[in-house]
Amino acid sequence: MRVHSITVCPDRVDVLVRVEAERMMRTSLDEAIAGRALAVLPGLADHRCFNDAGRSFAEELADTEVPHLFEHVVLELMAEAGSPRSLKGETAWDFRRDGRGVFRVSLEYDDDLVCLGAIKSAGRLIRYILEGGEQPDVRAETLRLTEIRSWPLGSSS
Ligand SMILES: [Zn+2]
Repeated sequence: MRVHSITVCPDRVDVLVRVEAERMMRTSLDEAIAGRALAVLPGLADHRCFNDAGRSFAEELADTEVPHLFEHVVLELMAEAGSPRSLKGETAWDFRRDGRGVFRVSLEYDDDLVCLGAIKSAGRLIRYILEGGEQPDVRAETLRLTEIRSWPLGSSS
């Protein structure tokens, strides 16, 4: 899965991602994926899917689109870095319009830089969740995101 473009809108960040290999499209490709996802981000167990009649994400985790997993990983990283848990995301696709394997992931945010940092961290985490290997240090990632939040960028409020 690759991030193609990121657009910061006033109310959300839109991420265009592409899954190149057909077999990498869904989390059902490996039954270890759900376990690895919950091991690195236990908070995912309490996520709900607002775009699917309030189903819990834990129910979806074993067999859902990989970009949908990416959406929830970004939101969880943001929450761990202090963003409100009420922020929502959505994963949509129209393969006929955009091409096969292209997904549009929309993320609400409270701090755009934290959201962008979480998108970058999520890419690394997704690689581990899909393929295994050495477990990434999620605490270090969220600490970095927490620091981004305090960057003194604005001059007025
Ligand atoms: Zn969802």
